[in-house]
Amino acid sequence: MKKIFTMTLLLLLCTTISVCNAQQLPKIAILATGGTIAGSTDAGGTATTGYTAGVLTIDTLIKAVPEITKIAKISGEQICNIDSSNMTDEIWLKLAKRINTLLKSVDGIVITHGTDTMEETAYFLNLVIKSDKPVVLVGAMRPATAISADGPKNLYNAVALAGSKSAKGKGVMIAMDDTILGARDGVKTNTLQTSTFKALNSGPLGIIIDGKPFFYSSASRPHTINSEFDVSNLNTLPKVDILYTYSNDGSKVAAEAFLKAGAKGLVVAGSGAGSIHENQKNYLLDTAKNKQAVIVRSSRVGSGYVPDAKDGILNADNLNPQKARVLLMLALTKTSDPKQIQDMFNKY
Ligand code: ASP
Repeated sequence: MKKIFTMTLLLLLCTTISVCNAQQLPKIAILATGGTIAGSTDAGGTATTGYTAGVLTIDTLIKAVPEITKIAKISGEQICNIDSSNMTDEIWLKLAKRINTLLKSVDGIVITHGTDTMEETAYFLNLVIKSDKPVVLVGAMRPATAISADGPKNLYNAVALAGSKSAKGKGVMIAMDDTILGARDGVKTNTLQTSTFKALNSGPLGIIIDGKPFFYSSASRPHTINSEFDVSNLNTLPKVDILYTYSNDGSKVAAEAFLKAGAKGLVVAGSGAGSIHENQKNYLLDTAKNKQAVIVRSSRVGSGYVPDAKDGILNADNLNPQKARVLLMLALTKTSDPKQIQDMFNKY
């Protein structure tokens, strides 16, 4: 009798402790959008190319990493299931609105995302999320079916980061390959390697070891609660396209077509520190002068500052063309005045 009583007491104690622990766990919502992390192939475990991205669902991703339920109270939602090279403004707006709603009741957000356009989505969210709670993008370079797939560990790290108190106020982050990158500066730098994400202009924010984040720096530009951009009442974003400059540049034809199709802004991936071939430069200077569209000069080099040429074409600071496009779209939701837009490029 005494033995049964002691055992019941012990059982009760254990249940109470685990319930208490569960209550203390951070609430993390995982929003799945597709990508290689949800990719699969029948070609076997050695295949790391030629797979289909955006196949596995959020439930499968969560079940594949049961360890995450020990460090967080997880809920999952499927926002879309695509190869991120097909990302759209519509999905960005849906994602931003859903995150802003969810952050009223959860402690952090993880977004599973293809790596191809992750840096663009991250920067967009960094400028439109209205909370200082952690928002973390994560993906994988190898499909879930590959030997040594990087997705499960990356997902575990992302959940740990999103649930960490030290990640509060750091802005939107990318967690890949045990590294934490800020949304503004994190870029994909290699087509296939798992260590592809770098912050070429500034360095990473920190690292994640055994599920514990260590921060060594902070994002210096305003983001999230300190950003002026608000997409809560928007259903579309202004159209902004990207031009590329190169020897014997023929992209004036593309510039004309973009403007005819309704572009309100153009970003030029210039050569070097933002040089533009004269074949298209004169046309773009006229376009800017006539206020037909706002033109921003970035560089195809991949890192570094683009100086102000003071010729009517704005400069993108050190944002690469695809990130400059994100900021120009958001800037155009507020104004089409080039001076004010240049101030935004200097600020964000
Ligand atoms: N094409 C894939 C995607 O961006 C690549 C990846 O996720 O690594 O969806």
